[in-house]
Amino acid sequence: MRDGVAGLLLRAGDAAGGRVRRGLSIAERSVLAPVFQDGLDLDEIVVVPGRAGLLGLSPRPVTLGTTIHLKGHTSPGLLVHEAVHVWQFRRLGARYVLDAIRAQYSRTGYDWRAAGTDRFDGLNLEAQAQFVQDLRTTPAVGKDYPALAADALASVRTPSTPSTR
Ligand SMILES: [Zn+2]
Repeated sequence: MRDGVAGLLLRAGDAAGGRVRRGLSIAERSVLAPVFQDGLDLDEIVVVPGRAGLLGLSPRPVTLGTTIHLKGHTSPGLLVHEAVHVWQFRRLGARYVLDAIRAQYSRTGYDWRAAGTDRFDGLNLEAQAQFVQDLRTTPAVGKDYPALAADALASVRTPSTPSTR
């Protein structure tokens, strides 16, 4: 049931994806490749640059499966954030959608500092994405939280195995 609902949401996202969809640009690849290295297959990521349909109701970018809806945003930090969600989807499957929604409305939400952990898997899905985003945009984060930074990068750079796909 859980996966059924999540799968439906994923398909609704695809249907709402609108007309313009493309692969990553060279500039976007140059942002993501150094962060994820071998941990993410950049070739499978689809980008919808503009706002579309129901998904356009919120101004935030949103990621459904391997499709990133940028909604007009172009900042490297936000791209990294959404790519973390693709990475999560690749490891959690459709369950990712519900876990991410739960994370958005959880007490700590995007606030990775509030989690008080040195472990990347100790963060909820939004806090994980926000931490890697902040690591990319604010170099001091890596200096102030070296253990969490090291664990985060080791995690997102680990290639997915057949059992995690
Ligand atoms: Zn997010």
